[in-house]
Amino acid sequence: MAARVLDLVTELLDEAEAGGCAAGAVGVAVPGIVEEAAGRVVLSANLGWRDLDLAALLAERTELPIAIGHDVRAGGLAESVLGAGRHCRDLLFLPIGTGIAGAMILDGRPYAAGGYAGEIGHLRVEPDGRPCRCGGGGCLERYASAAAIAGAYAARAGEPVTAAEVAARVAAGDPVAVAVWGEAVEALAVALGAYATVCAPELVIVGGGLAGSGELLLEPLRAALSARLTFQRVPRIVRAELGDRAGLLGAALLARAGAGAP
Ligand SMILES: [Zn+2]
Repeated sequence: MAARVLDLVTELLDEAEAGGCAAGAVGVAVPGIVEEAAGRVVLSANLGWRDLDLAALLAERTELPIAIGHDVRAGGLAESVLGAGRHCRDLLFLPIGTGIAGAMILDGRPYAAGGYAGEIGHLRVEPDGRPCRCGGGGCLERYASAAAIAGAYAARAGEPVTAAEVAARVAAGDPVAVAVWGEAVEALAVALGAYATVCAPELVIVGGGLAGSGELLLEPLRAALSARLTFQRVPRIVRAELGDRAGLLGAALLARAGAGAP
């Protein structure tokens, strides 16, 4: 798999050069536990990588400055510089898809903590709740991820559907869909309430597949979060602007910074 990434980067560099635009640096965003500063992938379960010195491999192949980022943090960086968070210094980027991740931007900078920060999908929102793949239980992503929403609906209605279909049924007033959706919103409000209390973001940017449901999700989420908070700063909750390109653009921003550009 690493060999394929090296080949792909070489191809893209050749393509750029053929197009009259020689690249000055390379940025790659990787899912998993990533030590950005060291350019090292500690663990990427999806890719089957462990302790991979990806920056060194790429530097050897390309002889260019290399920046390695984490996919979600890179996406959060892009949203904070180029997308919905352009004017904010403290924000949370929250992609909701098969799982739930978080990229924390604190005082204008992505916060990584050695690659371990931002795992808001594994905040416990339900004591003695559903078991989670992380080894814990009651985690946010077991209630509010697209996979969890689809699974909860299927378990109650006896019919396999996607989260997008559940959303359509919420809009149509299907009571099972409305109940499942309400539980997801409440779970998100519990987790964001904890985040708002500790980190006080000005803005929460919801991304990932579930953001496609737009105000159907965001409007009740704003209400549920406001109802939970008392003295804390209530963050604005908006939809991500960059879609699937956020990670790519974030990797490019990291490469640009690594190459010494302003
Ligand atoms: Zn978990």
